[in-house]
Amino acid sequence: MHRLISQLKESTIIPLALLMITIPVAHFGYQEFSVTVKGLFSLAPYIAFTAATTLSLVYGRLRVLMTLLVLVISYWAFSTLTGPVGLSWNKFTIETVFNAITILGPLNIALFAFWAEKGSLISDLFTKTAAIAIQVFFVWLVAENHYTGVLHFFTLIFWPSMHPDWLNIAPFSFIAFIIALLAMAIRIITQPSTTNAALLSSLVILFIVSQQLLIPGYLPVFMFLAGLLLVGAIVHETFNMAFKDDLTGLPGRRALNEQLAKLGRHYTIAMMDVDHFKKFNDTYGHDIGDQVLKMVAAKIRKVTGGGKAFRYGGEEFTILFPGRDLQHTLPHLEIVREVIAGYLMRIRDEDRPEDNDEGKNMRGRKNTRIQKTQKKDSSVVSVTISIGVAQREGMNKTPEQVIKAADEALYRAKHGGRNKVST
Ligand code: GH3
Ligand code: MG
Ligand code: MG
Repeated sequence: MHRLISQLKESTIIPLALLMITIPVAHFGYQEFSVTVKGLFSLAPYIAFTAATTLSLVYGRLRVLMTLLVLVISYWAFSTLTGPVGLSWNKFTIETVFNAITILGPLNIALFAFWAEKGSLISDLFTKTAAIAIQVFFVWLVAENHYTGVLHFFTLIFWPSMHPDWLNIAPFSFIAFIIALLAMAIRIITQPSTTNAALLSSLVILFIVSQQLLIPGYLPVFMFLAGLLLVGAIVHETFNMAFKDDLTGLPGRRALNEQLAKLGRHYTIAMMDVDHFKKFNDTYGHDIGDQVLKMVAAKIRKVTGGGKAFRYGGEEFTILFPGRDLQHTLPHLEIVREVIAGYLMRIRDEDRPEDNDEGKNMRGRKNTRIQKTQKKDSSVVSVTISIGVAQREGMNKTPEQVIKAADEALYRAKHGGRNKVST
C-alpha cells in the first residue's frame, strides 16, 4: 500500500503540477502573445506530437502512439472548427465533429490504455489504426449525409437536472469522459507508471479543451502540454528501464557502473548475497523468492551512513559508500544484516508449491528459519544475508579491485557460517 502511494505520487506529481501551471498560461498568458506568436503556438502541439510519435515508434510504445493519434485528430478537428475553415462549415458538420470528438475521444483513450499489446508492432498498429479509421468513417458518413437523428440522439439532454449550466459538452460526452476517467483511474491504481499518468493527463486535457473550446488559449497550450507529458513519460520510462531494476526498484548494474566511474579516492564497497537462496526457491517457489528479494532490497535501500544500494544481479546486492572508510560503514552494515535476519515475512500456504522432500529437509536448516504460526493457513519465513566489505587502499586501487576484495570478504563470511559481515 505504501509502495502504491509512493509510486502514484512519483508518477502523478509532475503531470499534476504542470496541469496547474498551464491553467493560468492558457487563461491569461495566451492573450498577451502577439499574433505571430499565437500563430506559431498553434503549431506547437504538432511539434510535441511529432516528437512523441517518433519516440513511441522507436521504443515500440503502442499505447502512447494510439493516444497520440486520438490527440492529433482531436487537435486538428478542434482547431479547424474554431479556425477560419470551420467558419465555412455548416452548423450540422460542426456539431457532429465536436460531439464525435467528445464522445469517441475519451472512450478511445481508455480503450487503448487497456487493449493488450500483442503480436508484432506493425500488425497491432494496423488493427488499432483500423479501429480508429472505422470511427472516422462513420463520423464522416453522419456529417456528409446529414443524419440528424444520430446527432440528436447523441446530443439529447435526457435528464436536464443532470446537465449543469457550466457543462459545455453534451450529457453523452460527459458520461463518456466519466467512464474513461474511472477506467484510467483503475488503470493507474493497478499499474502506477509514468506512462499511465501521462495517458490519464491526456484524457483530462481533452476534457479541459472540449470544455473551454471557445476560449482561444486553451486548445494549443493544453494540447502542447499533452504532447510534452507523453514525450516525458517515454523518456522517463526508457531511462528507468536501463537504470532501475524491475523487480526490486533498486538501481541496477548499469547505474552501479556509472557511479563507480565517478568515485573519488576514498570509498568503501559492500557486496552482499542472500544465504541459501537456491534452497529457499526450491522450497517455496520462485514467486515467494521474488517477494523475499523485494523485501531484502527494501531493507538494503534504507542503509544509513551514506550508503547507496544497487542490485548487482540475482540475489546479490551492492552498497557504495563514497568518501567513507571501512570502519565507518561496519555498524551501518550490521544494522542492515540484523534487520533482514529479524524480519519475519508472512506467506500464505496456498502460495506454496507442493511439499517435496527437499522442502521438508529445509525446515531444519539453520539459516532459513521457518516458523509455523498459530494461524493454521499461514506461516512466516525469514532469510539472512552475508556481507563482505572492502575499502580503497593499498593494492586495491580501482573500483573493480575493491569489488573483488569485497567479494573475497563475502566468501569468508559465507564460510564463517553466513549471516555475518566480514572484512
Ligand atoms: P549461498 O548461501 O552460498 O549464497 O547459497 P545460494 O543458494 O544463495 O547460492 P547461489 O548463488 O548458488 O544461488 C543463488 C540462487 O538465487 C539461484 C537462484 O535460484 C536464485 N535467484 C537469483 N535471482 C533470483 C531472482 O530474481 N528471483 C528468485 N526468486 N530467485 C533468484
Ligand atoms: Mg549468489
Ligand atoms: Mg546466495
